[in-house]
Amino acid sequence: MDLPNIENHLSVHNIQSITNWDEGWAWLAGGTWLFSELQPSLKVLVDMQPLGWSEIEVVPFSDSNSFKQVKTVLSIGATCPLSKLLQYSWPPEWRAVEGLKSAVSALSASMKVINMATVGGNICLALSVGTFAPLMVALDATYEIWNLKGETRRVAAKEFQVGYRQTILQPQEVLRRVLIPVENLKWQVNYQRIGIAASDPALAIVVSACNPDNLQLRCAIAASVTAPILLDLHDDRQIQNFAFLQEVNFIDDAKASAIYRREVTQVLIKRSLKQLKI
Ligand SMILES: Cc1cc2nc3c(=O)[nH]c(=O)nc-3n(C[C@H](O)[C@H](O)[C@H](O)COP(=O)(O)OP(=O)(O)OC[C@H]3O[C@@H](n4cnc5c(N)ncnc54)[C@H](O)[C@@H]3O)c2cc1C
Repeated sequence: MDLPNIENHLSVHNIQSITNWDEGWAWLAGGTWLFSELQPSLKVLVDMQPLGWSEIEVVPFSDSNSFKQVKTVLSIGATCPLSKLLQYSWPPEWRAVEGLKSAVSALSASMKVINMATVGGNICLALSVGTFAPLMVALDATYEIWNLKGETRRVAAKEFQVGYRQTILQPQEVLRRVLIPVENLKWQVNYQRIGIAASDPALAIVVSACNPDNLQLRCAIAASVTAPILLDLHDDRQIQNFAFLQEVNFIDDAKASAIYRREVTQVLIKRSLKQLKI
């Protein structure tokens, strides 16, 4: 779609070269959402492709905030197109990669969209139906955020999205990359999604992950709630009676009631845990 109010399209190779960021400026990643509807509040698009942030690499990582030990992480650059996740030659022992592939197919988008849409765009758009956020929450990923002064901060994936189209990103900040501990990529992951029709946005998404070494479980829910929620499944009784879902604030709209969304979320959690054979 044409965006008639856009006055300028900037290509930058280094974000620190941007000195005059102002209201009405936005990062342009794959553009699959930005060009899908009118953007009356925008006037400048800053194209991220020339930044060259589409890497997939394994790097050492130390969380300087908590002085934790250096660990090895998979780094996925924010501008990595979704199609690259499908084509990449992943180590076979990284069972959680199935989750990345499921997050791509859960978009129910054509190859044309999947070739353009980026991991960072999906996470930063922060729709309730975002398909990557619940996976990153379940895998205990960390997001690296940069600002235009060259400062970096890191935040746990579960803290990033705070509501529908709301994140903790400040003006002038950008998601640089997603970091997933390599150990967590060995976890077994199951991704469940339900919608009214297969091509409709999801009504509920559930992503469960299980560490095979200690059978520790993590389960994130999304789409039925405004932002992904990591559930506490430490107690067996919790898993049996699902009482914790009573405290969750489910979306209630014309597509489905909160009660319906709670019920289908529960069904997906059961299905997902069964697939993990817990
Ligand atoms: C057929 C179809 C189905 C879709 N289904 C879904 C779906 O099920 N779930 C869903 O969530 N989306 C869906 N989308 C919307 C969208 O295409 C995807 O979310 C896509 O992943 C967005 O990525 P993008 O790179 O194209 O983002 P863009 O359109 O370029 O940007 C999206 C937003 O994120 C901001 N942004 C992008 N990258 C960064 C960054 N690194 N740092 C800070 N801000 C950034 C942009 O400024 C913009 O506000 C669908 C789109 C289509 C066409």
